[in-house]
Amino acid sequence: MNTDVTTNDFEGSQNVEMVRTEQLVKRFGDNIVLNGIDFHVKRGQAVVVIGPSGSGKTTLLRCLNHLEKIDDGRIYIDGQLVGYREEKGRLVEDSEANIARLRSQIGFVFQRFNLFAHKTALENIIEAPIHVLRQPKDQVVERARVLLDKVGLADKEDAYPHRLSGGQQQRVAIARALAMNPKLMLFDEATSALDPELVGEVLKVMRQLAEEGMTMVAVTHEMGFARDVADHVVFMDKAQIVEQGPPEQIFGECENERTRNFLSRVL
Ligand code: ADP
Repeated sequence: MNTDVTTNDFEGSQNVEMVRTEQLVKRFGDNIVLNGIDFHVKRGQAVVVIGPSGSGKTTLLRCLNHLEKIDDGRIYIDGQLVGYREEKGRLVEDSEANIARLRSQIGFVFQRFNLFAHKTALENIIEAPIHVLRQPKDQVVERARVLLDKVGLADKEDAYPHRLSGGQQQRVAIARALAMNPKLMLFDEATSALDPELVGEVLKVMRQLAEEGMTMVAVTHEMGFARDVADHVVFMDKAQIVEQGPPEQIFGECENERTRNFLSRVL
């Protein structure tokens, strides 16, 4: 990895860019999974990433909050370098504490809801604000109730995950992420594990967040959501961004043959 600190300033765009990757490279062994990705998300934007299975979408999301270590390139979140810091003109790996701080500012919603099974919906939501952010419990509980209401689960605060449907569990997971007051939300195929009739209720919450101006990146197979909600659609194939633009462009008269082929298979 090139660790020279020479080209990492972008003051002009710092105020508007929430995510910026520069020539991001990620390999698993000999398999290049991200091959020079320049990916940008402006503050307040909802960006949807689409593309065939195995094209690198999930890995891109996981790199953004350093769940995966990158092999080359740079990632900035809100102007801050991810996973590395400058020391004597070189890049060195950042401390665990700084990486944990970064993660606490990014909400990550997984395909599998990953709720604590032995905690109620409310307890799931208040855990991190109390133990990571050290906020006072009564304040956190009050906010958790507001968030449960927001995701349509005001009456489920005492329910344990096994008593909730997949869609309800995923909505608790979204409320749990929001409880940390994230500056960015990442959704990794948040509806793929759900029965079809439960997909809509989760997409509705995601749509509402986008309309409220939450900065988000969603990897999804839901093309209707991409078309209706995204400000910007990114099409990935074989470890690269092949095409990107507003949904009208991608779903309208896109010129790229790989994009057209993909869309003709999924629409
Ligand atoms: P997508 O989200 O577009 O389906 P992924 O990012 O999940 O794609 O995967 C991209 C490629 O990286 C695939 O070839 C996958 O097998 C590989 N891959 C993903 N995670 C790992 C891992 N932890 N170890 C090895 N290979 C991986």
